[in-house]
Amino acid sequence: MALSENGHIAETEGKKMHHEEGIVIVGGGFGGLCFAAALHKVGLKAVVLEQSNKLRSEGTAIALQSNGMRVLQLFDLANQFRNIYFNIPGIEYLNQYGRRLTIMDPSHCEGGPHEMRCMERKVLLEAIAGQVPQGTIRLNSRVTNIKKSETSPNVTNLELEDGSTYSAKVVVGFDGVNSIIGSWLGLEKPKSIGQVEVRGMAEFHNGYNFPKLLRLFLSRTIRVAIFPMTTTKVYWFVVWRDSSEGWKNLTPEEIKQEVLQITKDFRVPDFTLCINNTSLECFTKNTLRHRINIKPTWETQVVGNVTVCGDASHPSTPFIGQGGAMALEDAIILARKLHQALKSKESQISKVQESEQIHKALLDFHRERHGRTYALTHKAYMVGVSTIADTAIKCFMRDWFFIPRAGRIGNFMEHTLFDVGKLPIDEPESHN
Ligand SMILES: Cc1cc2nc3c(=O)[nH]c(=O)nc-3n(C[C@H](O)[C@H](O)[C@H](O)COP(=O)(O)OP(=O)(O)OC[C@H]3O[C@@H](n4cnc5c(N)ncnc54)[C@H](O)[C@@H]3O)c2cc1C
Repeated sequence: MALSENGHIAETEGKKMHHEEGIVIVGGGFGGLCFAAALHKVGLKAVVLEQSNKLRSEGTAIALQSNGMRVLQLFDLANQFRNIYFNIPGIEYLNQYGRRLTIMDPSHCEGGPHEMRCMERKVLLEAIAGQVPQGTIRLNSRVTNIKKSETSPNVTNLELEDGSTYSAKVVVGFDGVNSIIGSWLGLEKPKSIGQVEVRGMAEFHNGYNFPKLLRLFLSRTIRVAIFPMTTTKVYWFVVWRDSSEGWKNLTPEEIKQEVLQITKDFRVPDFTLCINNTSLECFTKNTLRHRINIKPTWETQVVGNVTVCGDASHPSTPFIGQGGAMALEDAIILARKLHQALKSKESQISKVQESEQIHKALLDFHRERHGRTYALTHKAYMVGVSTIADTAIKCFMRDWFFIPRAGRIGNFMEHTLFDVGKLPIDEPESHN
């Protein structure tokens, strides 16, 4: 095993090794790492199998709102991020010529104060990874197959690309939109909504003069956003309609040229500045996909002691910036459920009883989460489709009626009020 600089990441060098573990998490993104950190906090050991050779920070930046910040607070990380990244005081909607349609001021929304900060994915991932013990994160560990053990019904076996194998009492797939665990559970593949997004982070070493607002510029079918992160870093993205998947072979330079071409009718000089101050390796393009889980997830997403969470469970479009936060919330709530199932009765129950407790905990988790993740996935999609206005009349209605009214809705930030609650940290026993 080789340890990285921070000592928390082990690269598997031994080929064809067999590992026996209690809890195995497939995927070391936000959700998987936060789940491992939460389990560690409640005294449960887990390993994280991550296919990449480093923590994946593709997409450069991510916005977290109050609900996501509350999760970071549980690990005493929130203030570290508050000290680096701006809290955005408003969302301004404009047309492609820069005319303001409305401005949403979160301080006028119920339940505040609200937070909305855009942070670097890499910094966030590393901070969460710093919360888990050495050797928890196994890089270069791509899971290629999953099987129920033929000899022990309570055990699940995982096969990795390098030939090594794991057997586990619990397998949780935090493995993203193309989840292999989700496929094994028989989940429908997430569907494209016929839109793509290109995003990146511009760096202005001598600062910039943009307003400290999230600005969204809308044409009929294209959305451009500028989201200041720090005094020198600005996140931006462009969304447009495109159902083809042919872009996957484009080079970063071609993607950059495509963005400039798509936005040529926008009179937004700040955006052009952002594009020109973004290094090529920061350009990321995605087809936007989601799955609205109409069927209850406790019926479809738990088989024995295997389940999925985060994007693997409820892949969502990014229009309300909640995908990452939902994965973080899942991590805390599932850790709490497993703590209840495993920790308190650890020494007193048989393997079969323990397995039943775990199964029940996974079902309870999905019962608790389904309503919220269904609602947010649906809301994100509705926000996404309602800002596309492909005819002149729809565009007129959007710009003069819907968006100005949306700016006055008092519960616009309602979904960010969710409080994930605390982790049960065991108190030392008192000896009277
Ligand atoms: C364009 C776009 C913009 C977004 N913007 C925001 C935003 O502003 N705010 C927000 O909250 N959310 C945003 N999201 C959503 C957010 O990125 C995801 O919801 C979040 O990353 C989900 O976390 P996760 O841990 O479930 O999955 P992921 O972050 O996708 O992590 C999955 C991990 O599993 C690993 N993996 C996959 N398969 C295997 C395998 N077979 N074996 C081992 N490892 C495997 C992957 O390498 C990856 O590291 C955005 C998404 C997109 C597409």
